[in-house]
Amino acid sequence: MDRRNILTLIGASSLMAACQETSSDAASGDQNPEINWRLITSWPKNFPGIGQAPEDVARMVSEMTNGKFKIKVYGAGEMAPALGVFDNVSSGAAHMGHSAAYYWKGKLAAAPFFTGVPFGMNAREMHAWIQEGGGQALWEELYAPYGVLPLAGGNTGVQMGGWFNKPIESLEDLQGLKMRIPGIAGEIWNKAGGTSVMLPGGEIFQALEKGTIDATEWLGPANDLAFGLPQIAKYYYMPGWHEPGSMLEFSINKKAFEALPSHYQFILKIACQSVADKMLNFYTAANAKALETIKSNPNVEIRQFPSVVLDKLYQMTQEVLSEMAASSDDVKKVYDSYTSFQKQAQAYNRVSEEAYYRVRTAIESIETDI
Ligand code: CA
Repeated sequence: MDRRNILTLIGASSLMAACQETSSDAASGDQNPEINWRLITSWPKNFPGIGQAPEDVARMVSEMTNGKFKIKVYGAGEMAPALGVFDNVSSGAAHMGHSAAYYWKGKLAAAPFFTGVPFGMNAREMHAWIQEGGGQALWEELYAPYGVLPLAGGNTGVQMGGWFNKPIESLEDLQGLKMRIPGIAGEIWNKAGGTSVMLPGGEIFQALEKGTIDATEWLGPANDLAFGLPQIAKYYYMPGWHEPGSMLEFSINKKAFEALPSHYQFILKIACQSVADKMLNFYTAANAKALETIKSNPNVEIRQFPSVVLDKLYQMTQEVLSEMAASSDDVKKVYDSYTSFQKQAQAYNRVSEEAYYRVRTAIESIETDI
């Protein structure tokens, strides 16, 4: 080998070594790039429960990527209006959102099924439908034209029926009653004679205090107490017929998601799943504790809706859901999947959860008049 060849060889090997070093740096750089995302929500910043979920996801994702993948959380109104989450995630103005699908029913008629429907599935059944019953695929299909990937974002469990300043004893008491109640439940409320109003959570207290609305539902004891609702309403009604297991959603801009390294995608999905599970645990504990506080307030009376009212609301619910199913093939497909899963899950619950609750209540002789 002559000198020229040796130099060429040395040159080539140095170059190769340099290339290897560069490509290995590039590869490690590519594998763990710095990513900065904006996450918008429909909730006041750091609101307990639902507002904690996006903060938890941001923290978990940062921890699992050594601080490389950062998600900055914006409360309602900070970057986008409370009900502008879907549009801003779709456009890419935000990379991610945390909200509830039923807020988008004006745009997507089938969306409310992905939060939950009146007299529908509870939290446990809802999550089973999404994860094991084909719900996730239908949800992704619904959002695909908008470039949005949805994921379960937590669940409130069965909500409370709401706060009223006059007792509800008959159907007449519903007539003209202006209540903050969103989604399909709002339509049902109107059909039963009431007037539904949609307001973001942050505006509820003022509206009820000023008398702009006569009644409101919000979430459950923990969040209702945090909003100060026991200070301005006397009757706290149960059960939350209208929201038996409302699921929240993480919405992710699909292009932004697809641009992530695959392990970041995995980490993000795992964080969302973990937070979704955590929320139900939070509400189970926090609502039980807050209910004790509310029960000890002498100005508040906890009541159950009379069966004549619940029967009417149930009947109106079936009408509204049937009308929705008849409105388009897309809605029908989701409706069929949801209702058939509920039917099957409910039959099982009758011999498991419900049977157990009945026995436990009877044995412990828990007073039912609260
Ligand atoms: Ca609610």
